[in-house]
Amino acid sequence: MTSVPEHCPGTQSETAGKESACQGCPNQSICASGAARGPDPGILLVQQRLSSVKHKILILSGKGGVGKSTFSSLLARGLSSDSEKNVGILDIDICGPSVPRIMGVLGEQVHQSGSGWSPVYVEENLAVMSIGFLLGSPDDAVIWRGPKKNGLIKQFLSEVDWGNLDYLVIDTPPGTSDEHLSVTQYLLGGSEDKHRTVVAVVVTTPQEVALLDVRKELDFCKKVNLPVIGVVENMSGFICPKCKFQSDIFPPSTVSGGAEGMAKEYGIPFLGRLPLDPRLGQSCDSGAHFLAELPDSPAAKSFHHIMQGVVSSLDTKMDVDE
Ligand code: ADP
Repeated sequence: MTSVPEHCPGTQSETAGKESACQGCPNQSICASGAARGPDPGILLVQQRLSSVKHKILILSGKGGVGKSTFSSLLARGLSSDSEKNVGILDIDICGPSVPRIMGVLGEQVHQSGSGWSPVYVEENLAVMSIGFLLGSPDDAVIWRGPKKNGLIKQFLSEVDWGNLDYLVIDTPPGTSDEHLSVTQYLLGGSEDKHRTVVAVVVTTPQEVALLDVRKELDFCKKVNLPVIGVVENMSGFICPKCKFQSDIFPPSTVSGGAEGMAKEYGIPFLGRLPLDPRLGQSCDSGAHFLAELPDSPAAKSFHHIMQGVVSSLDTKMDVDE
């Protein structure tokens, strides 16, 4: 997977493809030719299709394995516990689509109709669409390169028939890859609409190696003008289900202050900590509804606090924009 150069000037910049940072980037020639600068007709298609979605929440992480898909799925489940709200979860983690398993719909088929691809419904108000539904074999994705991935993401964003949604949670691949550029370009590229928001939530673990990559992710968001509504620290301590003793398996560095310290440094809200809970891991593997099965667990309680932060931040954002 190709990654964005650290000092990428951005595809829309006059100097795209021409700066020293562009040397060696696989997109250099297309950026230098200016072809990436013109409006992509796909942007309009995506905007039209997603005009019925109120809040688009991109879930990002610097590294793989920090719990991004777990958090995305919990958020989709949690938001849909309000039966008045319609929620969708879109999994565009091309190289590791795990949402179908976590949501308990592994092996389901998606159908195409005149109005687009129909997502798979887990509940009446909770729809799932994953790149995993379309892969012949999980190994297929490995051979996909930039333009093909870009086309697939465009199709995903413009051809899924979600109907009216209050929230669309988008599980992205880790890091700052081609897919991120594509998805942000399509979601943010259209005309301003004060009644629709696109935001990001960043998931990390407390370790410094994870935080290092989160910084790159936050710099990326700044570069593409994607508002980050908060940082979530996952695998933050372990509360023994039997004796309730809390151990810090990955203690945050006292120098950086872990994810909370980093969020402060960047001026981004810290949404909270989600502890390690082996029962959460098991629920993800079996596709069970953790929040419904263990509502009083420390992880479920912490999650609800985090979700409230997400919801109130979205509500505030709407108020400010209006
Ligand atoms: P990512 O999407 O960032 O690659 P996943 O959500 O797939 O990460 O999580 C990686 C693994 O860690 C999965 O097996 C998942 O079940 C487990 N996991 C994630 N968060 C927790 C947690 N808080 N407690 C226990 N296991 C977790």
